[in-house]
This record gives sequence, structure tokens and C-alpha cells, in this order.
Amino acid sequence: MALYRHDKQIFFNEIRVILSLEGFYINNKFVIKELGFKSCNLNSVIYFKTDTKIFKEKDLKTTYFLSNFIHGLSFYKNNEYWMSSNDYKAVIKTIYQLTETEDKSKIYIGYSNDINLLTILHNSGLDKISVNLKEIYKDIPTIKAIKRLSTYGFGPYTLCQMHNESEYYKYQCAKVKSLILYDWCLDKYQQQLNKNGID
Ligand SMILES: [Zn+2]
Repeated sequence: MALYRHDKQIFFNEIRVILSLEGFYINNKFVIKELGFKSCNLNSVIYFKTDTKIFKEKDLKTTYFLSNFIHGLSFYKNNEYWMSSNDYKAVIKTIYQLTETEDKSKIYIGYSNDINLLTILHNSGLDKISVNLKEIYKDIPTIKAIKRLSTYGFGPYTLCQMHNESEYYKYQCAKVKSLILYDWCLDKYQQQLNKNGID
């Protein structure tokens, strides 16, 4: 699936919420574990239960790799209060409603170059109001740059408590990713406004 492209130019002030996710690949299918979101007044994360019965022996390697070197989340960690991973459509629609503001121009969901997220938005019927932020800002931070800013236990970009701690690796957290992308885009947008004001 190609990343959705819009015919008209979309500006950052039209983005209502930025989403980000982390998960696993089981039987060649992406399984959501963590969904982070950031709007102008909310930044939070929702965790999903994973059905451990679907786990196949052949997925051991990738699961181990993701848990130890990429996001530091555990496939097996579940909590009875978490959402089922099958409920992601309802969760995304709820986040979309929850982040509505009086500013009616804010209608889009932003994401950054993430095919799994786009697939989930497509399955939820929200791909037409979703925008790849890279369409707005070509120099949007890469995952490497986002990881450099992420911290454990202090600073504005603290990983949520669901990740392992590692002195060797910086892990990817969906909550922090959505926040860093939001702050970066907002800063860029304000710089443009200031520049246009002066020019
Ligand atoms: Zn996290």
C-alpha cells in the first residue's frame, strides 16, 4: 500500500492529533502493543493485550530482536485492563473524538512514514483524513534522531514505564515519538509564521 497522498497542501495547524505505534510481527502480521498520541492538549499512550496463543516458534527471533534491541516491550506482558489488540479501530476513533477542539480546521491525523500505522488507519476507515507528516516537512526527524532525544526517567521526552531499561540501547516509545514529532512540527510551523510575519 502506498502512503496516502493528498491533492491539496495540508498545513500543520490542520493536524488534530499525531499517532505513533510499536508492536510485533506474528505470522507475518503486525500486532499492535502500544499506541501513543499527542494533540494540542493531550499526550498519552494506550497498551494492548496480545493473544499469546497466536505466537509461533518461527516468530521467536523477531520478537526477541524487537524486545531487546528496538522497542524494549514484552510480547507476553498483558494486563486484564488493557484493550484487546483487535479493538484498535474503536480506540483510534475514540482518540480522534477525544482530541477534538473548538478549532474546526483541525481535522487530520498525522503520522510519520509508518506503513503499519497507515494500514491500521486504512482498516479503521480513517486513511483519507490521515497525513504523512513527511508530506508537510521533508526534514521531519528520523527514528534515529527521535531516539537520541528520548530519555529514561528525566527530561521532557521520558519513555513510558512499559519499556525495559538498557544502558546500551535507546528504545522506541510510541508516546515519546508522538510528542517529539508534535513539538518538532509545532516549532517548525511557528518559525514559518514568524518568518512570514517579518517578510
Ligand atoms: Zn512507551
